[in-house]
Amino acid sequence: MAFSKMVKPDSSELIHLTVLRTERLSPHWIRVTLGGGEIEKFRPMGFDQWFRLFLPIGGDAGLDRVPAKANKMFGYLKFLRIPDGERPVMRNYSVRAYRAATMQAGAEIDVDFVLHGSAADGTAGPASRWAETCQPGEHVLIIDEGLTFNPQRGTDRVVLVGDETALPAIASICASLPDEAAGTAIIEVPSEADALDFARPSGVELVWIVRPHDAAPGAQALETLERTALPDAPFHAYAAGEQALASGVRKHLVGVRGVDKNAVSFCGYWKIGAASPASKTAREAAAEPLA
Ligand SMILES: Cc1cc2nc3c(=O)[nH]c(=O)nc-3n(C[C@H](O)[C@H](O)[C@H](O)COP(=O)(O)OP(=O)(O)OC[C@H]3O[C@@H](n4cnc5c(N)ncnc54)[C@H](O)[C@@H]3O)c2cc1C
Repeated sequence: MAFSKMVKPDSSELIHLTVLRTERLSPHWIRVTLGGGEIEKFRPMGFDQWFRLFLPIGGDAGLDRVPAKANKMFGYLKFLRIPDGERPVMRNYSVRAYRAATMQAGAEIDVDFVLHGSAADGTAGPASRWAETCQPGEHVLIIDEGLTFNPQRGTDRVVLVGDETALPAIASICASLPDEAAGTAIIEVPSEADALDFARPSGVELVWIVRPHDAAPGAQALETLERTALPDAPFHAYAAGEQALASGVRKHLVGVRGVDKNAVSFCGYWKIGAASPASKTAREAAAEPLA
């Protein structure tokens, strides 16, 4: 049976949020908690809900100039007209956790950022650098993008594979699965301390892979999957992380293991040597001449 690949959110309006606090979780992880602002506009969907994040690299004035639908072709072209230096940096991130408002506090979203390179010596990407240095009170904008893990493809049996960038999504998927769900999650991380444990159904076995220093990101996770027994079909497979891992998992499952391609959700989260955005729309829009 074929289901739509993505689950779109009800609304994809711009949502202004504020950094409430940050917490260093491990050598390569920092958690930024967002809230305040227009948080009540945000509709949590669980699973691997993700969003476009606009960071105020050129100050708050740039955020005010982000047009509606900046995640779509025409909106993105308008976004590109914001002058260099003022134009916010747009990147993609996952909702690691959402907490509804209580009597004491407003709703909150945790976003877990992988720290890659170093802010100090200028080798980090802008989003990684921002996460490492942002302060409570700073403003950001988000546009909800919904889910890649379509629950209609199945939640009883799962195979989840990712590198560290997919750890927030896989942890959130596991928090959204029914208690009786079973399967395997394979997650590759850069160091043992970065293997941040998370709650999951007791039937979901979690396999951590610590990447050797000289290995290409994702390669070990893919090799592990190739040696792993799969649950009885039907199951829902999900792969995310470095482009070659996401597409390699899909190719292996469909081409070698004979898994129905409609049972595999996958998303390239980043690409070695290429700055984001790597989305098709963003690439096409960026390549198109401005009118
Ligand atoms: C749907 C979706 C959800 C995502 N969710 C998360 C999330 O919750 N947490 C998270 O940390 N990331 C997540 N990512 C990945 C994140 O968007 C990318 O890693 C992004 O490139 C980081 O932006 P940057 O500005 O730090 O680096 P960029 O400017 O995009 O890249 C600069 C350089 O750094 C390299 N690079 C980028 N990311 C990494 C990395 N993780 N490790 C090593 N080198 C890297 C690039 O290849 C490039 O050479 C998600 C991506 C998608 C598409």
